[in-house]
Amino acid sequence: MRVALDVPLPGLFDYRCEHSVAVGTRVIVPFGRRHMIGVVVETPAEPALDQASIKAVEQVLDDLPPLPADWLALAGFAAQYYQRPLGEVMLPALPASLRKVSAYQGPRSAGGPVRRSDKRRAAAPATVASEPAPNLNPQQAEAVRAIAAIQGHRTVLLHGVTGSGKTEVYLHAAQSVLERGGQVLFLVPEINLTPQLEQSLRSRLGGPEGPAALAVLHSGLAEGERLRAWLHAQRGQAQVLLGTRLSIFTPLPRLGLIIVDEEHDASYKQQDGLRYSARDLAVWLGRDRGIPVVLGSATPSLESWYHAERGHYLKLSLAQRAREVELPKIRLVDTRRLALQQGFSPQLLDALGARLEHGEQSLIFINRRGYAPVLSCSSCGWISQCPRCSAYTVLHRASGRMAGHRQRLHCHHCGYQAPPPAACPDCGDQDLRPMGRGTQRVEEHLAEFFPQARIARIDADSTRRKGSAAELFAQVHAGQIDILVGTQMVAKGHDFTNLGLVGVLNADAMLFAHDFRAPERLFAQLMQVAGRAGRHVRGGEVIVQTDYPEQPVYQALLRHNYAGFAQYSLAERESIGLPPYAYQALLTAEARELAVALEFLGRARKVLQDLAADCGASLALYDPIPLRVVRVANIERAQLLVESRHRPSLQACLALWMPRLPEAAEGMRVRYQLEVDPLEI
Ligand code: ADP
Ligand code: ZN
Ligand code: ZN
Repeated sequence: MRVALDVPLPGLFDYRCEHSVAVGTRVIVPFGRRHMIGVVVETPAEPALDQASIKAVEQVLDDLPPLPADWLALAGFAAQYYQRPLGEVMLPALPASLRKVSAYQGPRSAGGPVRRSDKRRAAAPATVASEPAPNLNPQQAEAVRAIAAIQGHRTVLLHGVTGSGKTEVYLHAAQSVLERGGQVLFLVPEINLTPQLEQSLRSRLGGPEGPAALAVLHSGLAEGERLRAWLHAQRGQAQVLLGTRLSIFTPLPRLGLIIVDEEHDASYKQQDGLRYSARDLAVWLGRDRGIPVVLGSATPSLESWYHAERGHYLKLSLAQRAREVELPKIRLVDTRRLALQQGFSPQLLDALGARLEHGEQSLIFINRRGYAPVLSCSSCGWISQCPRCSAYTVLHRASGRMAGHRQRLHCHHCGYQAPPPAACPDCGDQDLRPMGRGTQRVEEHLAEFFPQARIARIDADSTRRKGSAAELFAQVHAGQIDILVGTQMVAKGHDFTNLGLVGVLNADAMLFAHDFRAPERLFAQLMQVAGRAGRHVRGGEVIVQTDYPEQPVYQALLRHNYAGFAQYSLAERESIGLPPYAYQALLTAEARELAVALEFLGRARKVLQDLAADCGASLALYDPIPLRVVRVANIERAQLLVESRHRPSLQACLALWMPRLPEAAEGMRVRYQLEVDPLEI
């Protein structure tokens, strides 16, 4: 039999076994000096020639039924599309305890993790007060009808402005699948979005027999919890699986519908190991299983919009807000000729003051955590830099009551931390000053401007402790906070009932990033954060401070004009041949010396050039270049971008190329990885 193992080697591995074993079965096999769990992928009718030299399977694991064919097909597709060995896709996709030999062999294994987890009583579902369902408005009703009418597979792009009630559409679509006995996979970008959604799913889905059985899956779960949720879904007991990107690899025997909420969100992309897009795999899976896929967003990715415009996807629109509130009014405050106070324009300060007086909440969005982006010497211009990376260090205020106002420099790339120097390392001057602003400093200034206001900050630092994000959001929802300061963590999903004003600081920083997707990301982020304003209160307002109000991104934002922005951006991408009009793959190399990384990429480029010529494929091969942050933790990094207008050509060349890379790396101390459809280049 042929077994997939989680080792960085291409191909499958031959083992023999006394009795016949079904494809999809997990087995323990010897590998070198180790023992590993693998998945049986092929059972050839003709046994391999030299049976004697082939090692025997040690143990056939029968605690689970074999992994089903559709799961194997998804893993097979992902392995092929993302150019990874099958075992490196399959095994990491399983909960950790199902792929650890120690969970099955050894003194404490007690029949394996599945049997142990069965002995634990399933947690009784908490009774939830059922929310009354609102009557659908005509656009929602039309969307629900159109989704219900789909026979077999179709991908739907549900484009609904923020607050248009996409969740209602998801709930109705899901409910009708449940009533036919199907399962629903509901993907969300991040788990900080799920508390409200989870509540709605629990209270709204189900029938006279009770609420629908819901399993929740994300990377923050303890191993045992994750295994139980996975088993619940795989056995068909869970009717709804709500989870982050990794949930895409959960076997769901009666899957009838996949929903991908906020489909444009970059969190659907796994950034290490198998670099998959859960959104893209969801579309593939829907097609494979012959079921509808609903991609929802107020700001769809340009890829999805392009498919919808061409009729590949069915486009359904919710153009109005569901409640009796208007979309917030957006104001661009031109900061070029304004005297700012600590980064705040008079307009924004006035607006904050007015909301405070009315007892309404405000949100200040600044996508930069820490106190200040750098510490700088006022006499010679020295700037704090990470000794291990080609990056500046960010000034942070230590948190916690005991810390006082102690400051530290943090590197956001490698985690390096140090106290700030007492004097400038270059000129000895002691006048070192923070330059620019991060969330901590903004919070501090707000407290000075509005001493009576209750202010909270939500960013990766303030929410490090498990459960603290939920606590902070609960305070906001309970009306215990007047002004919320936050990074993109606060931009998404939340339905704040009393939030009237959103202020955006420092958006321009994202405007001129080199990445061609920067304007798309900025637009989505601003639309999302703007969408938090005035969802329930009238007169919602958004103030964006910018030095470049004439930029297309801001002009489109002003008019809530996603379609216009998408049309403009797609035309631009088409004219220069960027995705979605071209397909890309990125080979990244890491070495102690930049020259080595570049040399390897140069050789790899030559190999690919020859291969492409041999098979007559037209590829655009760029020159190897250093990454923008070239050194991280003393490792130098470079990249090679490969592009084609024809996806199958690119795929075919990549498949021939990957096996040739070890040869190109020979004699070099270099690590490399390939990313197909990279999001950031
Ligand atoms: P979206 O996800 O599109 O931003 P939500 O699904 O969060 O919007 O809905 C926004 C608000 O409108 C929620 O408070 C929701 O309960 C409410 N809502 C949705 N549909 C309706 C409706 N048909 N009538 C009244 N309120 C609705
Ligand atoms: Zn100096
Ligand atoms: Zn660093």
